[in-house]
Amino acid sequence: MDRWLDKVAVVTGASSGIGAACVKDLLGHGFRVCGLARREIKLKETESSLSAEQCDRFFSIKCDVTKEDSIKKAFEWIEGNLGGIDLLINNAGVIRYTDLVKENNTSDLRAIIDTNLLGVALCTREAFQSMRKRNFPGHIILINSIDGHQVPNFGPNLPSFNIYPASKFGVTAMTEIYRQEFLKYGTKIKITSLSPGGTKTDLFPDEHKEIMNYPCLSPGDVSNAVMYVISTPPHVQIHELTIKPLGEP
Ligand code: NDP
Repeated sequence: MDRWLDKVAVVTGASSGIGAACVKDLLGHGFRVCGLARREIKLKETESSLSAEQCDRFFSIKCDVTKEDSIKKAFEWIEGNLGGIDLLINNAGVIRYTDLVKENNTSDLRAIIDTNLLGVALCTREAFQSMRKRNFPGHIILINSIDGHQVPNFGPNLPSFNIYPASKFGVTAMTEIYRQEFLKYGTKIKITSLSPGGTKTDLFPDEHKEIMNYPCLSPGDVSNAVMYVISTPPHVQIHELTIKPLGEP
């Protein structure tokens, strides 16, 4: 725990699911944690479940990761008030349940691309610049998905996940691009893609959960994997970690 005492972690998509679980675990490990999301009311709910001591180390920041000015403002606040970033968890993500070929689904396409790819790229760029200035070797984690390695096939009776799997395949590629670029810039920043299988969160509507009827991970299971990934010795970098519930097909 001393290793991380007062280090600064930024979690995007901290208002629910996996992000909210990461916030709690990171606070438990001594980090100061900035939780970013659009819904302030949900961030407040996360905050209200913390102890008084943890509240002092938690900073909820309203931020839309699809908007560059919103990201810049958030990261400038963190830099100015907390002195920089040691760990970024790029977790914010959206999915849409419409077929890719369906008419009038442009807003679904944009939401997925802007959040899952552009948002990750913009937040990572800001965190990278902040980490380069600091002595503590930084770490950036991309919450990917098993759908970023294999396109799911739920048969003809369910809509597909639109461009979601392609966005997560993109995250797989970005992980390698960052690894190469971090080396090029001579930094000791670690990059990890963490790919969970089905996880019980608000991402999936209830009717999908019922039809799929798979065993699921909990947000805490994924957060545990995050804590494992950051616990490795300084010279060890977990490039890709896949975590599935036992029994998932
Ligand atoms: P949730 O829907 O519970 O959480 C998604 C989070 O992303 C929310 O906090 C939401 O906050 C935030 N978010 C969405 N859009 C934006 C935005 N434009 N700006 C800022 N924050 C945003 O789902 P999960 O916890 O399941 O999802 C977290 C990550 O895990 C995603 O990247 C997802 O793809 C990935 N994942 C999930 C799996 C699952 O089965 N659940 C499996 C594999 C990967 P707000 O709406 O307040 O902005």
